[in-house]
Amino acid sequence: AAKAAGKGCFRFFEPEMHEAARERQRLESDLRVALEKEQLRVVFQPSVDASSEAVTGFEALVRWDHPEHGPISPVQFIPLAEEIGLINEIGEWVLRTACEEAVKWPSSVNVAVNLSPVQFKAHALPSIVRAVLSDTGLSAKRLELEITEGVFLNNDEHVHEMIGSLKAIGLKLALDDFGTGYSSLSYLQRVPFDKIKIDRSFVQGASDPESRNASLIRAMVGLASDLKMQTTAEGVETQDELTLVRNLGCSLVQGYIFGKPMPAEDALALASEGAIIRPDAHLTPREPR
Ligand code: C2E
Ligand code: MG
Ligand code: MG
Ligand code: MG
Repeated sequence: AAKAAGKGCFRFFEPEMHEAARERQRLESDLRVALEKEQLRVVFQPSVDASSEAVTGFEALVRWDHPEHGPISPVQFIPLAEEIGLINEIGEWVLRTACEEAVKWPSSVNVAVNLSPVQFKAHALPSIVRAVLSDTGLSAKRLELEITEGVFLNNDEHVHEMIGSLKAIGLKLALDDFGTGYSSLSYLQRVPFDKIKIDRSFVQGASDPESRNASLIRAMVGLASDLKMQTTAEGVETQDELTLVRNLGCSLVQGYIFGKPMPAEDALALASEGAIIRPDAHLTPREPR
């Protein structure tokens, strides 16, 4: 009887489920085509020094222009790529594209590339990174790889070996979306991160130094500086947010206030100029240096 009822339920949802499954299948095959037909592109978002506002680097962010559905967010298609086994290929393509651009920038300007936790399971990752650096001629110290706390979920020894191999190449490691993923800080005992990126959920709307978010940011900056890591405040959009994160001691800032992700040509121009001219820059209270 239970089986019959189950079947009945299933039949009830069937048309919708089929539609969703079909749509997903279409997206999967479209994504394979997208990689071959160059419908993916990489955009670059500047990261600036919190006190001087000089451009210190750009984060590479992937985009998919679907021929029918238009732009699809990486938040949607990266998980899909992970599931269908395309993330390694997409990830390598993003890395290569990002490094090819970064070699055109002044050598003081770095490039950051996001890595999926799935890419971390690929034993070939360090040799892929070395090959991309050598093919493109980018110095390892100008490359930063961003990983999320999700990488540490299973407390897998292999992850620590991978981190060691990547650090041995001479690149930098950043912990992305800090504070959102994983409740244990124990991995920080072992992992030589160069930087933590404070998630924008702490930053957005924060302007009052007495607020709970300000307390959390202050604590994260203190932790990072004790562990000799830099901090980036992510998602800074307003002057008030900028003033707060600067006063709390964040070393770097990323967010729409300094620039949205932009095409490679614009990133090259900005990298060469070295600084962002903001129309409202005079509003920024600056500590004498
Ligand atoms: P993320 O690495 O934390 O990147 C920051 C995201 O915040 C980007 O969204 C960026 O456009 C957005 N952002 C930056 N400043 C602001 C701001 O001031 N306000 C707001 N509202 N948003 C801001 P995007 O490009 O949609 O990427 C979303 C996520 O997708 C990334 O989060 C990253 O986890 C993932 N992703 C993007 N590109 C790649 C990639 O090449 N490989 C992998 N594995 N993941 C990627
Ligand atoms: Mg990132
Ligand atoms: Mg982030
Ligand atoms: Mg994020």
